[in-house]
Amino acid sequence: MTAPELTAADWIARAATITPSDELFIDGRSRPAASGRTFADIAGRDGSLIAQVAEGDAADVDGAVTAARRAFDDGRWSNRKPAERKRVLLRLADLIRDHVDELALLESLDAGKPIRDTLAVDVPSAATTFQWYAETIDKVYGEVGPTGPDALSLVTREPIGVVAAIVPWNYPLIISAWKLGAALSTGNAVVLKPASQTPLSAIRLAELAVEAGLPAGVLNVVTGPGAVVGSALARHPGVDKVSFTGSTPVGLSLMRDIGETDVKAITLELGGKSPQVVLSDCGDLEAAASAIGWGIFYNGGQTCNAGSRLIVHRSVRQELVERIAALGRELQPGEPLDPATRLGAMVDGSHLEKVLGYVRLGVGEGATVIAGGERVMAETGGFYVPPTILDGVDNGWRVAREEIFGPVLTVTEFEDEADALAIANDTHFGLAAGIWTRDVTKAHRMARAMRAGVVWVNTFDTADITVPFGGFKQSGFGRDKGLHALDGYTQLKTTWFDLTER
Ligand code: NAP
Repeated sequence: MTAPELTAADWIARAATITPSDELFIDGRSRPAASGRTFADIAGRDGSLIAQVAEGDAADVDGAVTAARRAFDDGRWSNRKPAERKRVLLRLADLIRDHVDELALLESLDAGKPIRDTLAVDVPSAATTFQWYAETIDKVYGEVGPTGPDALSLVTREPIGVVAAIVPWNYPLIISAWKLGAALSTGNAVVLKPASQTPLSAIRLAELAVEAGLPAGVLNVVTGPGAVVGSALARHPGVDKVSFTGSTPVGLSLMRDIGETDVKAITLELGGKSPQVVLSDCGDLEAAASAIGWGIFYNGGQTCNAGSRLIVHRSVRQELVERIAALGRELQPGEPLDPATRLGAMVDGSHLEKVLGYVRLGVGEGATVIAGGERVMAETGGFYVPPTILDGVDNGWRVAREEIFGPVLTVTEFEDEADALAIANDTHFGLAAGIWTRDVTKAHRMARAMRAGVVWVNTFDTADITVPFGGFKQSGFGRDKGLHALDGYTQLKTTWFDLTER
């Protein structure tokens, strides 16, 4: 049976019998942690144990970095012909597509995502990313500097070396693919550290990469606690670059790790608190409500760029909020392995508590809960929060300033458009923003004034691998996706030749 024909019962039966790879992947093969320790990987959907996963530590990081260093330094990947490297990454994209059911199941079990999303979005998007970066390999050229008739100056891109890629749990496969696609296509060797809630797709991806022809040691995976494994990677002298996606506090901690040890490059894709600014001339309120609702409720709000702050003109507030609440009521959470489910579980119990804690905090600060707000489906043992709307929120309150990372929308009203922009920009974060207006001049003026790495106008969360993604301010620096991401995994070399006649 293929995925479209599988029922919830089929997926649940598959989940009960799956035996995921649960060891470290170093130098082209699986191995247990040096300490022999493991940790429990728990499913958000019902709190059950999926696997005991190898708990790596500094010794395993050293083994992985040593393997990656060797693989990079002997040129087994970076010195292969571009067309050959391209073939390997294209083959990896195909293998990901061939294993869509398996990878989608791992991702849904680990992250609590609806299987319909992992099948239709997460896995295909990872494959597209590898394909897209593979195709850049023999299309990105170097430069010749305009240095005059007596010199030839070549400006070439070289890989940085060994990259430590540290990724979060909310889109494990997609974010790993962004980093690996750009890093591997440019010839680097990588040590990938997945989040402890969602380690399984990363391990499987590394196995598939070797099957696709990636030489041993070029991609290694070390699972284990971030404070140990992530920090050891940042402090390891054999690592040339850290590419991190996750929370702002951990981003700061990684910069401290690097600052205390050596000089290495770092890019940070961090949290967000993205505003959705709806002007009085928004026009199609139904379309706006749908995009704004999905922009916060999709993936249970566990999305860095989720549009979590609705900043809405008084004249349209009531109708818009009612429509978003209606969508929220329709989108009740369900069993992630049921193909009919559109909203899954929170990743784990402590995250559920964090999200519900913010709802209580918001009420304490003076907000009114007009949808959701309570845990549901507790009898399953899983961690489910329904779409929640906190109305009457002041932008100075903690629920409007801190990243909740759940399906929780705050509503703040404005009268004057200048205030709307000031409220939107009054945040430490700067990952994304939405603007809703039919007036093209206002849209341009506001988009230009928005301090965010991505601005969506009359749409939200539309994305494509061709364009860069990343933040301003405390949302980090550097970009994933698009050709600009290649800058983060390469360094420029200038080579001069003297052409004077002697
Ligand atoms: P997190 O707690 O910062 O963890 C991210 C990764 O860092 C995990 O692999 C984690 O490992 C590791 N880590 C934890 N502590 C560490 C330390 N002291 N040193 C080095 N590494 C450490 O974030 P998360 O909870 O997984 O993900 C949610 C956050 O990611 C949100 O803030 C979200 O906005 C952000 N995010 C940003 C983007 C973007 O593109 N801007 C995209 C997605 C998510 P363990 O799991 O083992 O702790």
